[in-house]
Amino acid sequence: MKYDRILIRYGELTLKGRNRKFFVRKLRDNIKMKLREFPEARIETTHDRMYVLLNGEPYDPVKQKLSFVFGIQSFSPAIQTEKNIEEIKKAALEVIKKSHQPGGTFKVSARRSDKTFEYDTNQLNQIIGAHILTHMEDISVDVKKPDIDVLVEIRSEAAYISGEVVQGQGGFPARSSGKGILMLSGGIDSPVAGYLAMKRGVDIEAVHFHSPPYTSERAKQKVIDIAAKLAQFSGRIKVHIVPFTQIQEKIHEKIPEGYTMTSTRRMMLRIADVLRQKNDALAIFNGESLGQVASQTMESMVAINEVTNTPILRPLIAMDKTDIIKIANEIDTLEISNRPYEDCCTIFTPPAPKTKPKTEKIVAFESKFDWNPLLAKAVEETETIVIKDNRLEKTGQQDFDLF
Ligand code: ATP
Ligand code: MG
Repeated sequence: MKYDRILIRYGELTLKGRNRKFFVRKLRDNIKMKLREFPEARIETTHDRMYVLLNGEPYDPVKQKLSFVFGIQSFSPAIQTEKNIEEIKKAALEVIKKSHQPGGTFKVSARRSDKTFEYDTNQLNQIIGAHILTHMEDISVDVKKPDIDVLVEIRSEAAYISGEVVQGQGGFPARSSGKGILMLSGGIDSPVAGYLAMKRGVDIEAVHFHSPPYTSERAKQKVIDIAAKLAQFSGRIKVHIVPFTQIQEKIHEKIPEGYTMTSTRRMMLRIADVLRQKNDALAIFNGESLGQVASQTMESMVAINEVTNTPILRPLIAMDKTDIIKIANEIDTLEISNRPYEDCCTIFTPPAPKTKPKTEKIVAFESKFDWNPLLAKAVEETETIVIKDNRLEKTGQQDFDLF
């Protein structure tokens, strides 16, 4: 017996009141896009559920795709049978056999939207439960916390039996909460920050600063590979690559050593904010975590933040590095982030950056030079790459490999 449909549960979305319709439609569109390689698969929505009808498409690769979709709390593949108790018993046994471990427990949860069916839910639970107990060894019933909950649903057109519950990504559907700019480095933190923002429905566009020849093509490639991993969740992602060499060199020429890092961050933020405006985004996201390094003290954040009123959102602000690494591993960006490379900031980082920079001082240092032409030039020469769900769609002057 093959799985015939997948029941999608959207958990938190049900809390969204009047917006619910919008979120459900968005989720449906996102699932549809994710499953475009499976032309026979159809999506069916009822008032409180969503189903993917497989129509002969294979379950395992579809399951793999669904596991990347934000907004899905969990899902369960189901077998469709005729509304005949013998067929239902047979299917329930199959379902149990697919996931039963010796010594495990189960219960049967029947639901009946077709009230004309000859057995009610209590009878169904008993008949099917007894059938499983007589045909399987090393299994017992636990109605409170079973290992496997066999769901039996009697609907007007057919009966559906499912057992496996696959955890989804949770969160809100991709691109359901407006656009944000992600400052994406090749490090471990910023991809995780981007993932968490996307999980709240933010449509992310990434900005990366690179400084050739101090940073190599490998460093740029790394960021593109990371962005491709993120695109698996969102369907697509734009990466704006900003040439930053001249600005960094000028900072070194004009700003006292202890303040070069503060100034570098301020220049990055100014450019990110212009790109945010140009691309109609609302906020800027970064991978800062309080106290992690010199630029991530509160004093530093104040001095850097002074250049804009745009909300700077920091999804990792209170997280420990070990928890960040755990997520990086789960979303498969850790290995890429761990590749050796030269970060534009590492190269120019002074031996002793100020951990408590003063805003007045950095403002005074920067005021001695007109930075605007250099900033405008960097924005003008920014190269934009669009990555679609692991495929590179459009590049600027150069081609890149994916993985
Ligand atoms: P990450 O692992 O994300 O690089 P980090 O702990 O190494 O973070 P920093 O290097 O101080 O910390 O960077 C702090 C944040 O500034 C990053 O999380 C990222 O959002 C942004 N950032 C740093 N370097 C770049 C860059 N070259 N391009 C774009 N954003 C950057
Ligand atoms: Mg870094």
